[in-house]
Amino acid sequence: MDNIDVAVIGGGQSGLAAAHALLRRGLRPVVLEASDRTAGSWPHYYDSLTLFSPARYSSLPGMPFPGADRDRCPHRDEVVAYLTAYAEHLDAEIRTGSRVTAIQRVGDAFAVELEGGARLSARAVVAASGTFGRPHRPALPGLEEFAGQVLHAADYREPAPFAGRRVVVVGAGNSAVQIAAELAETARVTLATRGPVKFAAQRVLGRDLHFWLARTGLDIAPLGRFLPRPPTQLVIDDGRYRAALAAGQPDRRPLFTGADGAKLIWPDGEREEVETIVLATGYRPHLPYLAPLHGALDSDGNPRRREGVAIGVPGLAFVGLEWQRSLSSNSLRGVGRDAERVARRLAACLARR
Ligand SMILES: Cc1cc2nc3c(=O)[nH]c(=O)nc-3n(C[C@H](O)[C@H](O)[C@H](O)COP(=O)(O)OP(=O)(O)OC[C@H]3O[C@@H](n4cnc5c(N)ncnc54)[C@H](O)[C@@H]3O)c2cc1C
Repeated sequence: MDNIDVAVIGGGQSGLAAAHALLRRGLRPVVLEASDRTAGSWPHYYDSLTLFSPARYSSLPGMPFPGADRDRCPHRDEVVAYLTAYAEHLDAEIRTGSRVTAIQRVGDAFAVELEGGARLSARAVVAASGTFGRPHRPALPGLEEFAGQVLHAADYREPAPFAGRRVVVVGAGNSAVQIAAELAETARVTLATRGPVKFAAQRVLGRDLHFWLARTGLDIAPLGRFLPRPPTQLVIDDGRYRAALAAGQPDRRPLFTGADGAKLIWPDGEREEVETIVLATGYRPHLPYLAPLHGALDSDGNPRRREGVAIGVPGLAFVGLEWQRSLSSNSLRGVGRDAERVARRLAACLARR
C-alpha cells in the first residue's frame, strides 16, 4: 500500500490551492481527482457563465489570472484553462481518474480507498471535493406532485432546448437570476422567489465591488465563526439583471404554493401549466467518502469543522465546500487564504505526532 503525507481529495481550485499551501509548509500532498482533468466543476457550469469577479480578483496564490485586461470578468472556459495551467505548474503529484470512495481511521493514519479497490495510507486528509456533486433540492410545496420536468441548475447548459417553453426558475441568487434572464430571451420565464431579489451594484463609486470588499476587509472577515449559513446572497449586477426584471423578462412572482399535475398553483390561486422548473437553489458539501469516518460529518452529511479543521478528527481538514470562513472562501481570490490556514494547522498537527 502507498504511504503518503497528505491526501487532497479533489483537483479543483480548492484542492490545487490546498496542494500549493501544503507544499509551502514542506508537506508532500498527493491530489486525488475523480475526473480526467484538473479544472474542478468549471467545465460543467453553464455555457454563458462569466465570472462576477474581474480577472485581477480571480487568482489563486502564486499565479496571476492571465490576460492584459485585468478588469474584464473572464469566461468559464478561461477559468478552465487557468486551472489546468495552474495544476501543470504545481510541483505536486496529481492523480486524475482517482475517485475516493471511503476514508477510515487506522491508528494515527487514514486508509483511503479508491474506486476500483486500490488503497493508500495518508497521515492527513484535505477534503476539497466541492459541492457540485450534491445539488440542493429543497422540499418546495407541490414539487413532488408536479408532473412536468424538474431540473437543477447543475443540469442547465444553454437556453436552446427551452425555446418557446413555459419555464419557472426557483431561486434568488446569482445563478437563478442569470439563468432566468438568459432563458427569457427565448422562453416564457418566471423567477419564483421567497422574497424580493436583492442586488449589489457591480461598480460602486467608479470601482468594482471587489475593490471595496478587499479595501474594507469585509471579503476576509471571519463571518463563518458566527454564521452557520452565508448571509443573504446578493445578485451582483452591472444593471442588466435589474433592468430585465423590471421589464418582466423574466417576471418575478412569490413562490408557488402547490401543484396539480402539470399546473403550478400561484399564491393568488391561479393555476398555470408549466413545462419546466429549474431549481437554482444551490449546493451542499459533497463528502460521501467521509461517511465511514466516525465524527467527520453531521447527520445531514455536512462537515463538522471549525474554520476548515475537523472537530474531533485530528489530521482531517476541509477547503472550499461553499460557506466556510469568509465571503471569499469559495472563490478563486479567497480559497488560497483558507488553504494556507488549513496547511498551517495540519503541519502543526503532524509535527506533534
Ligand atoms: C454558477 C457559478 C458561478 C461562480 N462564479 C464565481 C466567480 O465569479 N468568481 C469566483 O471566484 N468563484 C465563482 N464561483 C464559485 C467557485 O469558484 C466555484 O464553485 C468552484 O468551482 C469551487 O471549487 P472547488 O474546487 O471547491 O470545487 P469543484 O470545482 O466542484 O471541484 C471539486 C473537484 O473534486 C472532484 N471530486 C469530487 N468528488 C471526488 C471524489 N470522491 N474523489 C476524487 N475527486 C472528487 C471533482 O471531480 C472536482 O474536480 C461560482 C460558482 C458557480 C456554481
